[in-house]
Amino acid sequence: MAEMQQSSNFIQNIIEDDLKQGKYADGIHTRFPPEPNGYLHIGHAKSICLNFGLAERNQGLCNLRFDDTNPTKEDTEYVDSIQEDIKWLGFSWADRMFYASDYFDKLYAYAEQLIEKGLAYVDDQSAEEIKATRGTLTEPGQESPCRNRSVEENLDLFRRMKAGEFQDGAKVLRAKIDMASPNMVLRDTVIYRIAHAHHHRTGDAWCIYPMYDFAHPLSDAIEGITHSVCTLEFEEHRPFYDWLLEHLGFEEGKRPRQIEFARLNLTNTITSKRKLRQLVEEGHVRGWDDPRMPTISGLRRRGYTPASLRKFCEEIGVAKANSLVDAAMLEHCVRDDLNENADRVMAVLRPLKVIITNYPEDKEEWLLADNNPLRGGQRFVPFSREIYIEQDDFLEEAPKKFFRLKPGGEVRLKHAYIIRCDEVIKDEQGRILELHCTCDPDSKTGGATANRKIKGTIHWVAAKTALPCEVRLYDYLIETDEDGNVPADFIASLNDKSLEVLDKALIEPSVKLTAAGTHYQFLREGYFVTDPDTTPERLVFNRVVGLKDTWAKVSKK
Ligand code: ATP
Ligand code: MG
Repeated sequence: MAEMQQSSNFIQNIIEDDLKQGKYADGIHTRFPPEPNGYLHIGHAKSICLNFGLAERNQGLCNLRFDDTNPTKEDTEYVDSIQEDIKWLGFSWADRMFYASDYFDKLYAYAEQLIEKGLAYVDDQSAEEIKATRGTLTEPGQESPCRNRSVEENLDLFRRMKAGEFQDGAKVLRAKIDMASPNMVLRDTVIYRIAHAHHHRTGDAWCIYPMYDFAHPLSDAIEGITHSVCTLEFEEHRPFYDWLLEHLGFEEGKRPRQIEFARLNLTNTITSKRKLRQLVEEGHVRGWDDPRMPTISGLRRRGYTPASLRKFCEEIGVAKANSLVDAAMLEHCVRDDLNENADRVMAVLRPLKVIITNYPEDKEEWLLADNNPLRGGQRFVPFSREIYIEQDDFLEEAPKKFFRLKPGGEVRLKHAYIIRCDEVIKDEQGRILELHCTCDPDSKTGGATANRKIKGTIHWVAAKTALPCEVRLYDYLIETDEDGNVPADFIASLNDKSLEVLDKALIEPSVKLTAAGTHYQFLREGYFVTDPDTTPERLVFNRVVGLKDTWAKVSKK
């Protein structure tokens, strides 16, 4: 495959420098380290593309590692969905799928080593006391009364913690560094806690669990990771990352190094697993894969393609400062992909019946239509006396500039004839039932009046052959301020119009028996995908995105 156009980023530059200097003789090695406590979202897609992408680009390797050190929130459902999502995005960890819990024995041994070196101690203080004595950015913290326990006492207590002698919260193991350090993480950060909890993989084998700050650098080192890429909020943790590896004998230049980048924030979009879980658990959405969710599984169901997500991640680049990316750019990427790769069909979302009175009742024609100007291909579209058009393609009292159908006016039916509206048929309440029109019989492709100038062209389906279908239209899940920031109280700002179901839609018969996950452009209506709710009897479509590209306009300026 021709190399995708790859923009440079500062992490790639660091790697190139490292390789030039001959560091990391075995090649570079990254990892993607999700905590299996929820489904992955668009922010994780950025991290996946970055980590797997850097490895691919530099002929290195990227591991998948489940950071499963928090037993109470983790679940195998999440482990499975995470794997599915990464594969779907197009990346492979080959045989390198690991769990931090694989290393619990090793991590425990490292903790004992720290104790033996006088660099860790068991603290009897409660979490509140530890928090209260941490100090502030302007004041140093206070040393714990347990800080100067002997190595023997610490080892004994830590072993008894492991043996289950103490209750949750009764003791912790802390690194012994510097309570006056300007870096808060270096103020004797907690590295092990007691939790009598069942773990999704290790069961009840452990009742002490390592903290992220301890488990992460060591898991990286154990796996031979060279570049440990993470988001900016871990910048303050980097000195501890280095301190820990240094004091456990991992040599500088060979040991992993942490590099931070700005997390992805998108307008109108929640990128926090905790908040997404709340939406699922409180029933505000159908599930993690609801097409309105910014989860990878939601985006997939919505009809986003792996190529469009990878393109998006490439385009937004990698920066060191946080920013808010316009969701229109993500929409632009999927539109771009589907414009090229989705076939065009005609579907009428809100049907209005039209009878073409001068067209024979028993006649049926099969007209040729182009599938996609970029990819070619054609199909047959049936035409007959009764058709449906969109309700809003007809206006009884139309302004001058309305170039669709109006009484006495003409419009071209895409791929078919020019019709004129002669009569509007209404019920007793004055509601429009149907239109009576006549067609210009010579106006279809190849006919004598085919090129007659008509301002408007509309789509349609033939009544006899159209397939009934359900169409689901989506809008943003959350109402935001005008800059697109999601408010803190996002539940109060749920958009009650985020889902609109049209259950009387009609579509041309060429799509019959289409299975879930097939993309189409509905002419003039947008891009759509068949939903997993589709059956051989009933088609269900999700609108992926509309046709109007606000981003392309902005970016051309
Ligand atoms: P959340 O805040 O949604 O719970 P997290 O950081 O706790 O996310 P993890 O499972 O720990 O979730 O994330 C796995 C990896 O994905 C981490 O390296 C994390 O830095 C990265 N990541 C998470 N969110 C984003 C984001 N919005 N943009 C870029 N990377 C992200
Ligand atoms: Mg995390």
